[in-house]
Amino acid sequence: MGFPMSIVAPHVRKHLSADALFHLVRSGFASLPDHRLDDTEISLADALMSAFAMFSLKAPSLLAFDKERAEGNLHTIYGIVRVPCDTPMRTILDPVSPKVLRPVFTSVFRQWQRGKALEPMTFLDGHYLLALDGTEYFSSKTIHCASCLHRVHRNGSSTYAHQMLGAAIIHPDQRAVIPLMPEPIVNCDGTGKNDCQRNATKRFVAKLRQDHPHLKFIVTEESLSSNAPHIETLHAHGLHYILGVKAGDHPYLFQQVQAAEHAGRVTYYERHDRAVGVVHRFRFVNDMPLNAAHTHVRVHFIEYWEVSDTQVQHFSWVTDIRVSTRNVYPLMRGGRARWKIENETCNTLKNQGYHFEHNYGHGEQHLSVVFAMLMRLAFLVDQAQQLCCALFQAVWAKLGSKRLLWERMRALFYTDALASMQQLFEALFYGLKKPTPVFGFDSA
Ligand SMILES: [Zn+2]
Repeated sequence: MGFPMSIVAPHVRKHLSADALFHLVRSGFASLPDHRLDDTEISLADALMSAFAMFSLKAPSLLAFDKERAEGNLHTIYGIVRVPCDTPMRTILDPVSPKVLRPVFTSVFRQWQRGKALEPMTFLDGHYLLALDGTEYFSSKTIHCASCLHRVHRNGSSTYAHQMLGAAIIHPDQRAVIPLMPEPIVNCDGTGKNDCQRNATKRFVAKLRQDHPHLKFIVTEESLSSNAPHIETLHAHGLHYILGVKAGDHPYLFQQVQAAEHAGRVTYYERHDRAVGVVHRFRFVNDMPLNAAHTHVRVHFIEYWEVSDTQVQHFSWVTDIRVSTRNVYPLMRGGRARWKIENETCNTLKNQGYHFEHNYGHGEQHLSVVFAMLMRLAFLVDQAQQLCCALFQAVWAKLGSKRLLWERMRALFYTDALASMQQLFEALFYGLKKPTPVFGFDSA
Protein backbone atom coordinates (compact mmCIF):
# COMPACT_ATOMS: atom_id res chain seq x y z
CA MET A 1 0.00 0.00 0.00
CA GLY A 2 3.07 2.23 -0.15
CA PHE A 3 3.39 2.34 3.65
CA PRO A 4 6.65 1.20 5.21
CA MET A 5 5.85 -1.89 7.25
CA SER A 6 8.17 -0.77 10.02
CA ILE A 7 5.57 1.79 11.15
CA VAL A 8 4.07 0.61 14.39
CA ALA A 9 1.24 2.78 15.53
CA PRO A 10 0.89 3.80 19.17
CA HIS A 11 -1.18 1.60 21.41
CA VAL A 12 -4.93 1.76 21.21
CA ARG A 13 -7.13 2.15 24.25
CA LYS A 14 -9.10 -1.03 23.99
CA HIS A 15 -12.03 0.12 26.15
CA LEU A 16 -12.55 3.07 23.77
CA SER A 17 -12.32 1.04 20.57
CA ALA A 18 -15.37 1.01 18.30
CA ASP A 19 -15.93 -2.68 19.04
CA ALA A 20 -15.84 -2.20 22.82
CA LEU A 21 -18.15 0.82 22.65
CA PHE A 22 -20.63 -0.91 20.29
CA HIS A 23 -20.79 -3.73 22.82
CA LEU A 24 -21.37 -1.27 25.65
CA VAL A 25 -24.11 0.57 23.74
CA ARG A 26 -25.73 -2.73 22.85
CA SER A 27 -25.83 -3.91 26.48
CA GLY A 28 -27.17 -0.50 27.53
CA PHE A 29 -30.05 -0.90 25.07
CA ALA A 30 -30.64 -4.47 26.24
CA SER A 31 -31.20 -3.30 29.82
CA LEU A 32 -34.01 -0.88 28.82
CA PRO A 33 -37.53 -2.07 29.67
CA ASP A 34 -39.61 -3.11 26.67
CA HIS A 35 -43.20 -2.06 27.32
CA ARG A 36 -44.70 -3.62 24.23
CA LEU A 37 -47.33 -6.23 24.99
CA ASP A 38 -47.55 -7.88 21.60
CA ASP A 39 -45.40 -8.39 18.49
CA THR A 40 -42.05 -8.61 20.20
CA GLU A 41 -40.60 -10.66 17.40
CA ILE A 42 -37.90 -7.99 17.17
CA SER A 43 -36.49 -6.84 20.49
CA LEU A 44 -36.34 -3.17 21.47
CA ALA A 45 -32.56 -3.53 21.78
CA ASP A 46 -32.33 -4.79 18.18
CA ALA A 47 -34.45 -1.89 16.92
CA LEU A 48 -32.39 0.69 18.83
CA MET A 49 -29.10 -0.91 17.81
CA SER A 50 -30.21 -1.02 14.16
CA ALA A 51 -30.96 2.71 14.20
CA PHE A 52 -27.63 3.31 15.96
CA ALA A 53 -25.85 1.22 13.27
CA MET A 54 -27.61 3.23 10.57
CA PHE A 55 -26.10 6.46 11.96
CA SER A 56 -22.78 4.81 12.78
CA LEU A 57 -22.49 3.69 9.15
CA LYS A 58 -23.81 7.10 7.96
CA ALA A 59 -26.48 5.44 5.84
CA PRO A 60 -27.94 8.28 3.75
CA SER A 61 -31.51 7.32 4.65
CA LEU A 62 -33.53 4.69 6.44
CA LEU A 63 -34.54 3.29 3.05
CA ALA A 64 -30.89 2.99 1.96
CA PHE A 65 -30.06 1.27 5.25
CA ASP A 66 -32.98 -1.11 4.76
CA LYS A 67 -31.91 -1.99 1.20
CA GLU A 68 -28.29 -2.75 2.04
CA ARG A 69 -28.64 -4.38 5.39
CA ALA A 70 -25.63 -6.71 5.23
CA GLU A 71 -27.19 -8.86 7.95
CA GLY A 72 -23.99 -10.82 8.58
CA ASN A 73 -21.90 -7.83 9.60
CA LEU A 74 -24.74 -6.17 11.49
CA HIS A 75 -24.81 -9.33 13.57
CA THR A 76 -21.07 -9.75 14.12
CA ILE A 77 -20.07 -6.08 14.46
CA TYR A 78 -23.16 -4.48 16.02
CA GLY A 79 -24.50 -7.55 17.80
CA ILE A 80 -27.95 -7.26 16.22
CA VAL A 81 -29.95 -10.50 16.23
CA ARG A 82 -32.80 -9.40 13.98
CA VAL A 83 -32.75 -6.21 11.91
CA PRO A 84 -36.20 -4.64 11.52
CA CYS A 85 -37.34 -3.32 8.12
CA ASP A 86 -37.98 0.42 7.90
CA THR A 87 -41.64 0.51 8.96
CA PRO A 88 -41.28 -1.83 11.98
CA MET A 89 -38.20 0.14 13.08
CA ARG A 90 -40.21 3.37 13.11
CA THR A 91 -43.15 1.70 14.85
CA ILE A 92 -41.01 0.18 17.60
CA LEU A 93 -38.98 3.35 18.27
CA ASP A 94 -41.75 5.96 18.09
CA PRO A 95 -43.10 5.39 21.64
CA VAL A 96 -39.62 5.23 23.24
CA SER A 97 -39.10 8.13 25.62
CA PRO A 98 -35.78 9.76 24.67
CA LYS A 99 -34.78 10.20 28.31
CA VAL A 100 -34.32 6.44 28.78
CA LEU A 101 -31.18 6.74 26.61
CA ARG A 102 -29.33 8.80 29.23
CA PRO A 103 -27.62 5.82 30.97
CA VAL A 104 -26.20 4.71 27.61
CA PHE A 105 -24.59 8.12 27.05
CA THR A 106 -23.20 8.16 30.59
CA SER A 107 -21.81 4.63 30.30
CA VAL A 108 -19.87 5.62 27.15
CA PHE A 109 -18.63 8.76 28.92
CA ARG A 110 -17.42 6.63 31.86
CA GLN A 111 -15.10 4.86 29.39
CA TRP A 112 -13.55 8.23 28.54
CA GLN A 113 -12.90 8.77 32.23
CA ARG A 114 -10.83 5.58 32.46
CA GLY A 115 -7.10 5.48 31.83
CA LYS A 116 -6.61 9.27 31.56
CA ALA A 117 -8.30 9.43 28.14
CA LEU A 118 -9.98 12.70 29.15
CA GLU A 119 -6.68 14.31 30.11
CA PRO A 120 -6.04 16.04 26.75
CA MET A 121 -9.37 17.83 27.25
CA THR A 122 -8.55 19.50 30.58
CA PHE A 123 -8.49 23.27 30.45
CA LEU A 124 -7.47 25.73 33.18
CA ASP A 125 -6.70 24.02 36.49
CA GLY A 126 -8.37 20.68 35.81
CA HIS A 127 -11.65 22.07 34.45
CA TYR A 128 -13.44 20.90 31.33
CA LEU A 129 -14.74 23.44 28.88
CA LEU A 130 -18.38 22.66 28.18
CA ALA A 131 -19.96 24.33 25.15
CA LEU A 132 -23.75 24.60 25.12
CA ASP A 133 -25.63 25.49 21.99
CA GLY A 134 -29.26 25.37 20.89
CA THR A 135 -29.86 24.14 17.33
CA GLU A 136 -32.89 23.58 15.18
CA TYR A 137 -32.53 20.35 13.24
CA PHE A 138 -35.96 19.99 11.71
CA SER A 139 -38.54 22.37 10.35
CA SER A 140 -41.63 21.74 8.24
CA LYS A 141 -44.95 23.30 7.29
CA THR A 142 -46.69 19.93 7.06
CA ILE A 143 -44.86 17.09 8.83
CA HIS A 144 -45.27 17.16 12.59
CA CYS A 145 -45.62 15.05 15.74
CA ALA A 146 -46.72 15.44 19.35
CA SER A 147 -43.27 16.71 20.39
CA CYS A 148 -42.88 19.32 17.63
CA LEU A 149 -42.53 22.96 18.59
CA HIS A 150 -45.42 24.76 16.93
CA ARG A 151 -45.35 28.32 15.60
CA VAL A 152 -48.46 29.95 14.19
CA HIS A 153 -47.75 32.76 11.74
CA ARG A 154 -49.79 35.92 11.23
CA ASN A 155 -51.36 34.58 8.06
CA GLY A 156 -52.62 31.58 10.01
CA SER A 157 -50.09 29.07 8.63
CA SER A 158 -47.96 26.94 10.97
CA THR A 159 -44.35 25.87 11.19
CA TYR A 160 -43.35 22.74 13.09
CA ALA A 161 -39.80 22.35 14.33
CA HIS A 162 -37.43 20.32 16.48
CA GLN A 163 -34.62 21.89 18.45
CA MET A 164 -32.19 20.61 21.00
CA LEU A 165 -29.65 21.97 23.39
CA GLY A 166 -26.39 20.35 22.33
CA ALA A 167 -23.54 19.99 24.80
CA ALA A 168 -19.96 18.97 24.23
CA ILE A 169 -16.66 19.02 26.07
CA ILE A 170 -14.28 20.99 23.87
CA HIS A 171 -10.68 22.17 24.04
CA PRO A 172 -8.97 24.99 22.12
CA ASP A 173 -6.12 22.66 21.03
CA GLN A 174 -8.22 19.60 20.15
CA ARG A 175 -10.25 19.05 17.05
CA ALA A 176 -12.27 16.27 18.62
CA VAL A 177 -15.17 17.13 20.90
CA ILE A 178 -16.94 14.88 23.41
CA PRO A 179 -20.69 15.27 23.03
CA LEU A 180 -22.89 14.70 26.08
CA MET A 181 -26.53 13.68 25.92
CA PRO A 182 -28.38 16.66 24.39
CA GLU A 183 -31.52 18.06 25.98
CA PRO A 184 -34.46 18.05 23.55
CA ILE A 185 -36.43 21.30 23.29
CA VAL A 186 -39.91 19.90 22.73
CA ASN A 187 -43.54 20.65 23.22
CA CYS A 188 -44.48 20.04 26.84
CA ASP A 189 -46.70 17.01 27.32
CA GLY A 190 -50.33 17.81 26.83
CA THR A 191 -50.05 21.53 27.58
CA GLY A 192 -49.48 22.60 23.98
CA LYS A 193 -47.05 25.17 25.39
CA ASN A 194 -43.74 25.55 23.62
CA ASP A 195 -40.60 24.71 25.52
CA CYS A 196 -37.65 27.07 25.22
CA GLN A 197 -33.88 26.98 25.32
CA ARG A 198 -33.76 28.59 28.76
CA ASN A 199 -35.88 25.84 30.31
CA ALA A 200 -33.95 23.17 28.42
CA THR A 201 -30.69 24.58 29.81
CA LYS A 202 -32.09 24.46 33.36
CA ARG A 203 -33.04 20.81 32.92
CA PHE A 204 -29.68 20.09 31.30
CA VAL A 205 -27.50 21.51 34.07
CA ALA A 206 -29.52 19.79 36.79
CA LYS A 207 -29.03 16.41 35.07
CA LEU A 208 -25.37 17.20 34.34
CA ARG A 209 -24.78 17.62 38.07
CA GLN A 210 -26.66 14.40 38.86
CA ASP A 211 -24.53 12.46 36.36
CA HIS A 212 -21.20 14.14 37.15
CA PRO A 213 -21.36 15.63 40.65
CA HIS A 214 -17.58 16.03 40.95
CA LEU A 215 -16.40 17.12 37.51
CA LYS A 216 -15.26 20.74 37.25
CA PHE A 217 -16.78 22.57 34.29
CA ILE A 218 -16.46 25.98 32.66
CA VAL A 219 -19.58 26.52 30.55
CA THR A 220 -19.18 28.54 27.39
CA GLU A 221 -22.15 29.96 25.46
CA GLU A 222 -23.19 32.68 23.07
CA SER A 223 -24.31 36.12 24.21
CA LEU A 224 -28.03 35.28 24.46
CA SER A 225 -27.15 33.30 27.57
CA SER A 226 -25.56 36.26 29.39
CA ASN A 227 -28.61 36.99 31.50
CA ALA A 228 -28.92 37.11 35.27
CA PRO A 229 -31.33 34.16 35.80
CA HIS A 230 -29.14 31.89 33.68
CA ILE A 231 -25.94 32.97 35.44
CA GLU A 232 -27.65 32.29 38.77
CA THR A 233 -28.63 28.80 37.53
CA LEU A 234 -25.01 28.06 36.57
CA HIS A 235 -23.81 29.40 39.92
CA ALA A 236 -26.35 27.28 41.83
CA HIS A 237 -24.95 24.14 40.15
CA GLY A 238 -21.31 25.01 40.81
CA LEU A 239 -20.53 25.70 37.16
CA HIS A 240 -18.08 28.37 36.04
CA TYR A 241 -18.73 30.25 32.82
CA ILE A 242 -17.30 32.26 29.93
CA LEU A 243 -20.28 33.83 28.12
CA GLY A 244 -20.30 36.09 25.09
CA VAL A 245 -21.63 39.64 25.58
CA LYS A 246 -22.50 42.30 23.03
CA ALA A 247 -22.57 46.07 23.58
CA GLY A 248 -26.01 46.23 21.93
CA ASP A 249 -27.50 43.70 24.38
CA HIS A 250 -25.65 44.94 27.47
CA PRO A 251 -25.45 48.76 27.19
CA TYR A 252 -25.32 49.26 31.00
CA LEU A 253 -22.39 46.86 31.40
CA PHE A 254 -20.42 48.55 28.63
CA GLN A 255 -21.14 52.01 30.16
CA GLN A 256 -19.84 50.75 33.50
CA VAL A 257 -16.70 49.44 31.81
CA GLN A 258 -16.23 52.86 30.23
CA ALA A 259 -16.64 54.51 33.63
CA ALA A 260 -14.11 52.08 35.12
CA GLU A 261 -11.72 52.99 32.34
CA HIS A 262 -12.05 56.71 33.22
CA ALA A 263 -11.39 55.82 36.84
CA GLY A 264 -8.21 53.99 35.78
CA ARG A 265 -9.49 50.57 36.86
CA VAL A 266 -9.19 48.81 33.50
CA THR A 267 -6.13 46.71 32.67
CA TYR A 268 -4.65 46.58 29.17
CA TYR A 269 -2.61 43.63 28.01
CA GLU A 270 -1.01 42.73 24.70
CA ARG A 271 0.59 39.60 23.37
CA HIS A 272 2.44 39.29 20.07
CA ASP A 273 2.38 36.09 18.07
CA ARG A 274 5.09 36.87 15.54
CA ALA A 275 5.02 33.41 13.97
CA VAL A 276 1.55 34.07 12.54
CA GLY A 277 1.73 37.88 12.47
CA VAL A 278 -1.05 38.44 14.98
CA VAL A 279 -1.36 40.78 17.96
CA HIS A 280 -3.74 39.78 20.76
CA ARG A 281 -5.00 42.93 22.46
CA PHE A 282 -7.06 42.81 25.66
CA ARG A 283 -8.72 45.11 28.09
CA PHE A 284 -10.38 43.65 31.17
CA VAL A 285 -11.92 44.73 34.44
CA ASN A 286 -13.15 42.61 37.33
CA ASP A 287 -16.31 42.90 39.41
CA MET A 288 -18.79 44.68 37.14
CA PRO A 289 -22.61 44.67 37.42
CA LEU A 290 -24.17 42.59 34.61
CA ASN A 291 -27.03 45.03 34.07
CA ALA A 292 -28.99 47.81 35.80
CA ALA A 293 -31.80 45.48 36.91
CA HIS A 294 -29.44 42.92 38.49
CA THR A 295 -26.56 44.96 39.92
CA HIS A 296 -26.05 42.21 42.52
CA VAL A 297 -24.94 39.82 39.73
CA ARG A 298 -21.25 40.69 39.43
CA VAL A 299 -19.16 39.54 36.48
CA HIS A 300 -15.60 39.93 35.24
CA PHE A 301 -15.38 41.52 31.81
CA ILE A 302 -12.93 40.80 28.93
CA GLU A 303 -12.74 42.64 25.63
CA TYR A 304 -10.42 41.32 22.96
CA TRP A 305 -9.12 42.32 19.54
CA GLU A 306 -7.17 39.99 17.27
CA VAL A 307 -5.19 42.26 15.00
CA SER A 308 -3.46 41.04 11.85
CA ASP A 309 -2.28 42.86 8.70
CA THR A 310 -5.54 42.20 6.95
CA GLN A 311 -8.24 42.29 9.61
CA VAL A 312 -9.31 43.02 13.15
CA GLN A 313 -11.61 40.60 14.95
CA HIS A 314 -13.38 41.72 18.08
CA PHE A 315 -14.98 39.71 20.90
CA SER A 316 -16.15 40.31 24.46
CA TRP A 317 -17.07 37.97 27.28
CA VAL A 318 -18.13 37.91 30.90
CA THR A 319 -16.83 35.27 33.27
CA ASP A 320 -16.92 34.40 36.95
CA ILE A 321 -13.21 33.51 36.88
CA ARG A 322 -11.22 36.48 38.18
CA VAL A 323 -9.25 37.85 35.23
CA SER A 324 -5.54 38.69 35.37
CA THR A 325 -2.76 39.11 32.84
CA ARG A 326 -1.85 35.51 33.73
CA ASN A 327 -5.16 33.91 32.64
CA VAL A 328 -6.73 36.36 30.18
CA TYR A 329 -5.14 34.66 27.16
CA PRO A 330 -6.39 31.12 27.96
CA LEU A 331 -9.80 32.54 28.94
CA MET A 332 -10.01 34.17 25.51
CA ARG A 333 -9.09 30.88 23.84
CA GLY A 334 -11.78 29.13 25.87
CA GLY A 335 -14.35 31.72 24.80
CA ARG A 336 -13.35 31.45 21.17
CA ALA A 337 -13.29 27.64 21.17
CA ARG A 338 -17.09 27.68 21.31
CA TRP A 339 -17.28 27.70 17.52
CA LYS A 340 -16.05 24.12 17.69
CA ILE A 341 -19.44 22.89 18.81
CA GLU A 342 -20.86 24.36 15.63
CA ASN A 343 -18.01 23.29 13.36
CA GLU A 344 -17.27 19.90 14.81
CA THR A 345 -20.70 18.90 16.04
CA CYS A 346 -23.49 20.46 14.02
CA ASN A 347 -21.62 20.82 10.75
CA THR A 348 -20.15 17.36 11.05
CA LEU A 349 -23.65 16.07 11.53
CA LYS A 350 -24.91 18.08 8.59
CA ASN A 351 -22.07 17.82 6.11
CA GLN A 352 -19.88 14.87 6.85
CA GLY A 353 -22.29 12.18 5.95
CA TYR A 354 -24.62 12.21 8.93
CA HIS A 355 -27.49 13.82 6.96
CA PHE A 356 -28.67 15.45 10.11
CA GLU A 357 -31.57 17.23 8.46
CA HIS A 358 -32.48 14.37 6.25
CA ASN A 359 -35.80 12.86 7.08
CA TYR A 360 -35.33 9.38 8.45
CA GLY A 361 -38.97 9.36 9.37
CA HIS A 362 -40.74 11.61 11.82
CA GLY A 363 -43.17 9.45 13.77
CA GLU A 364 -46.12 10.60 15.84
CA GLN A 365 -44.62 10.74 19.31
CA HIS A 366 -40.84 10.60 19.87
CA LEU A 367 -39.27 9.03 16.78
CA SER A 368 -37.68 12.23 15.47
CA VAL A 369 -36.12 12.96 18.87
CA VAL A 370 -35.00 9.34 19.40
CA PHE A 371 -33.26 9.38 15.99
CA ALA A 372 -31.52 12.68 16.78
CA MET A 373 -30.30 11.21 20.10
CA LEU A 374 -29.01 8.00 18.49
CA MET A 375 -27.21 10.07 15.86
CA ARG A 376 -25.44 11.98 18.67
CA LEU A 377 -24.59 8.70 20.36
CA ALA A 378 -23.01 7.40 17.14
CA PHE A 379 -21.12 10.69 16.89
CA LEU A 380 -19.86 10.26 20.47
CA VAL A 381 -18.46 6.83 19.59
CA ASP A 382 -16.85 8.27 16.43
CA GLN A 383 -15.21 11.04 18.45
CA ALA A 384 -13.70 8.42 20.77
CA GLN A 385 -12.08 6.88 17.67
CA GLN A 386 -10.90 10.26 16.46
CA LEU A 387 -9.29 11.24 19.76
CA CYS A 388 -8.06 7.90 21.11
CA CYS A 389 -7.76 5.29 18.36
CA ALA A 390 -4.43 5.30 16.53
CA LEU A 391 -5.75 2.91 13.90
CA PHE A 392 -8.71 5.16 13.07
CA GLN A 393 -6.41 8.21 12.97
CA ALA A 394 -4.07 6.38 10.59
CA VAL A 395 -6.92 5.44 8.24
CA TRP A 396 -8.27 8.99 8.34
CA ALA A 397 -4.83 10.43 7.55
CA LYS A 398 -4.35 7.93 4.73
CA LEU A 399 -7.71 8.67 3.09
CA GLY A 400 -7.52 12.40 3.70
CA SER A 401 -11.16 13.09 4.53
CA LYS A 402 -13.92 11.77 6.75
CA ARG A 403 -16.32 11.62 3.84
CA LEU A 404 -14.04 9.23 1.98
CA LEU A 405 -13.39 7.27 5.17
CA TRP A 406 -17.14 6.69 5.73
CA GLU A 407 -17.61 5.82 2.07
CA ARG A 408 -14.85 3.19 2.13
CA MET A 409 -16.05 1.91 5.48
CA ARG A 410 -19.59 1.38 4.13
CA ALA A 411 -18.34 -0.21 0.91
CA LEU A 412 -16.35 -2.83 2.86
CA PHE A 413 -19.11 -3.33 5.39
CA TYR A 414 -21.61 -4.17 2.65
CA THR A 415 -19.33 -6.41 0.59
CA ASP A 416 -17.04 -8.34 2.94
CA ALA A 417 -17.66 -10.63 5.87
CA LEU A 418 -15.96 -8.97 8.82
CA ALA A 419 -15.42 -10.07 12.40
CA SER A 420 -14.99 -6.62 13.95
CA MET A 421 -14.64 -2.91 13.34
CA GLN A 422 -10.94 -3.30 14.06
CA GLN A 423 -10.66 -5.74 11.18
CA LEU A 424 -12.52 -3.28 8.96
CA PHE A 425 -10.17 -0.39 9.86
CA GLU A 426 -7.15 -2.65 9.38
CA ALA A 427 -8.43 -3.62 5.95
CA LEU A 428 -8.77 0.08 5.11
CA PHE A 429 -5.25 0.77 6.31
CA TYR A 430 -3.31 -2.25 5.02
CA GLY A 431 -5.62 -3.54 2.33
CA LEU A 432 -7.60 -6.73 2.77
CA LYS A 433 -4.67 -9.08 2.15
CA LYS A 434 -2.57 -7.99 5.12
CA PRO A 435 -2.63 -11.08 7.38
CA THR A 436 -1.36 -9.91 10.76
CA PRO A 437 -2.32 -6.70 12.50
CA VAL A 438 0.55 -4.50 13.67
CA PHE A 439 -1.63 -2.42 15.99
CA GLY A 440 -1.15 -3.49 19.56
CA PHE A 441 -3.69 -3.10 22.32
CA ASP A 442 -3.15 -2.23 25.91
CA SER A 443 -5.77 -2.66 28.55
CA ALA A 444 -5.26 0.70 30.28
ZN1 LIG B 1 -42.11 16.48 15.44
